[in-house]
Amino acid sequence: MKNTTEGFMKIAIAEARKGLNKGNRPFGSVIVRDGKVVARAHSTAFSGHDVTAHAELSAIKKCFRTAKTRDLKGCAIYATGEPCLMCSASIAWANLSELFIAADHTDVPASMQPARKRPGKVTYKKIFREFGSKIKVTKGVLREEVIKLYQEFVKKQA
Ligand SMILES: [Zn+2]
Repeated sequence: MKNTTEGFMKIAIAEARKGLNKGNRPFGSVIVRDGKVVARAHSTAFSGHDVTAHAELSAIKKCFRTAKTRDLKGCAIYATGEPCLMCSASIAWANLSELFIAADHTDVPASMQPARKRPGKVTYKKIFREFGSKIKVTKGVLREEVIKLYQEFVKKQA
């Protein structure tokens, strides 16, 4: 279970929960190279007062620092939520080879992401096309578990 797609997504979900416990929106991300987690992060946008501190972007930055490279070819990134446009561009810039997504951005309750238009005509797909990225995308990995986290966040805010 550990070294499987679901196993890695579970680690990303655990990150999302860590962030949620600190008052952030529940988003987590993990980067995997050669079957090993090389970076993990959660959104700290609220707790760190930084709108760019999304889980995926933070995981990518950690990876750059530890691997001392800016080319993450061969690495896979796991995202509990569909990457936003900023993170999608960063994923393309970083040259990541694979992306696993749990929940779609339309799964995020509107109250949780007021800045995002719905349904959202520009998505990661368009960004990747724009960059000419050949990244392989797999969606729906443990989606239900992530939707439960979103519901928890909304309940906390109410
Ligand atoms: Zn993002």
